Amino acid sequence: KKGSVAFIGLGTMGHHMALNLLRAGHPVAAFDVRKEAIDSLVAQGVVAAASPADAARSADIAISMLPDTPHVEEVIYGESGILASPPPGRLVVDMSTISPVAVRRMYADLKAVGVDFIDAPVSGGPIGAKNAALSIMAGGSADAFTRAEPYFHAMGTTIAHVGESGAGQTVKLCNQLVCAINIQAICEALALGRASGVDLDQLRGVLLGGSASSWMLDKLGPAMIAGDASAGFRIDLMLKDLRLVQEQALSLAVPLPATALATSQYVEARAHGEGSNGNQALFRVYDRMINR
Ligand code: NAD
Repeated sequence: KKGSVAFIGLGTMGHHMALNLLRAGHPVAAFDVRKEAIDSLVAQGVVAAASPADAARSADIAISMLPDTPHVEEVIYGESGILASPPPGRLVVDMSTISPVAVRRMYADLKAVGVDFIDAPVSGGPIGAKNAALSIMAGGSADAFTRAEPYFHAMGTTIAHVGESGAGQTVKLCNQLVCAINIQAICEALALGRASGVDLDQLRGVLLGGSASSWMLDKLGPAMIAGDASAGFRIDLMLKDLRLVQEQALSLAVPLPATALATSQYVEARAHGEGSNGNQALFRVYDRMINR
């Protein structure tokens, strides 16, 4: 029999991840503060829960996929949270991108009551979540990782144990700074190409066939060119990640000049009301800088 899952946070990513666990044969009880997010999964066979504790009541593992550190703290430390009533399987995995410092505190607090905790942020976007093709980077004990692995395989294809508690978040922050700088490089290439009168779809196609190819150009390029800023990974969430990158870099005295530059472009986007638009909306910063 496949292990049962308490899944908390059914947004852009969590919705698909919970469904893929269900499809892989794991019974799933789910909770989100937005009732409609739970309802949309109930028809598919997910059991609705009234709180994180309720979802975890008979679970082998509790998994969370939430926006930021305070949301995960609420789910772990809150009144009907996981620390007060851990899953009987005594394994908790947070897959959100949050502060590595906060993660290590959660690890210690849960360990004190005999519960294993893993930080396992992901990369691959909503497409990767939907196709169960995420890259999953996990921090925590080797034993806990082994226990969590079958669940990871239901959601992802690249699964790595990258070190002790917090290491998953560190690897994810490295991932995010590459993404942020890469998106900006694509924006600049498109801005120059457009101003020079080159066909942008063709430009993208040629770049994808050569050494400038990237996931971002492949997956976000079409929306950038079409000016479709709506869906996907929100500008606000990337700003949250860039803040975490900068905090960690400052605490270790590692200079990240390119990240600092990319961050200011994201700040500009949010100041222009683009916070809940997808990352592809970063191209509009260039629209605003260019007199067309
Ligand atoms: P989202 O905002 O779409 O989803 C978060 C969900 O959590 C929402 O449904 C929200 O209602 C719910 N929630 C908030 N507070 C809650 C609480 N206290 N209890 C229960 N539910 C609560 O975010 P997302 O895009 O799915 O991203 C989730 C995490 O994954 C973030 O940390 C993000 O940085 C990271 N991430 C996102 C992507 C992406 O492309 N969207 C890719 C990789 C990683």
